[in-house]
Amino acid sequence: RFITVEGQDGAGKSTNIAVIQRVLEERDIGFVLSREPGGTRFGERVRDMLLNSHDDEIGDVAELLVIFAARAQHLQEVIEPALAAGRWVLCDRFTDATYAYQGGGRQMDVSMISSLENLVQRELRPDLTLLLDVPVEVGETRADKRSEPDRFEQQKQAFKRNVRACYLDRANAEPARFSVIDASQTFVQVERDVRTVVKRFIDN
Ligand code: C5P
Repeated sequence: RFITVEGQDGAGKSTNIAVIQRVLEERDIGFVLSREPGGTRFGERVRDMLLNSHDDEIGDVAELLVIFAARAQHLQEVIEPALAAGRWVLCDRFTDATYAYQGGGRQMDVSMISSLENLVQRELRPDLTLLLDVPVEVGETRADKRSEPDRFEQQKQAFKRNVRACYLDRANAEPARFSVIDASQTFVQVERDVRTVVKRFIDN
């Protein structure tokens, strides 16, 4: 089965992915952990390009296409073989991030994103998506405590608000796939919620 974790920068994705990993290990579930952009050699090169380019070096359409190029490689090299072998896949961001950042943040045409999604993924969609949701200001404060901001973390408030709103819209539209976690709670409370969601998913 295929689990993805989504959220704005500073929402606590890394911490909670470690929590999910522990739950899967406790239940003896064989899984592959991966991330997007990234997950393959090619994908990591794309990630480096996306995060470390100047804004005037890469246009919106080019950005969208390389994200999906990296995703095609990721599916072929990592995700599909793992699922075919009966392993679970836990992925730090996937196509919902493209809807949120390129669709919501950059205001790109959503039909362009969904066409590429259908082309590259065919029928494949995550089975469970945990959305770690925080108000923009909370995410910013947390992300500020880390390293140098990347190209996306430097975006303006309006961009970040659109990213959050788009994630929440998608969660509302697909309640069976999404679990929205209130990530503005304490880390202990968030961990408890994440554990509950993942265990319920495993048991179903
Ligand atoms: O959170 P993570 O380190 O995986 O994401 C790297 C950066 O790429 C983040 O700043 C995120 O906002 C951005 N990103 C993006 N579009 C995507 C996926 C990630 O702008 N489709």
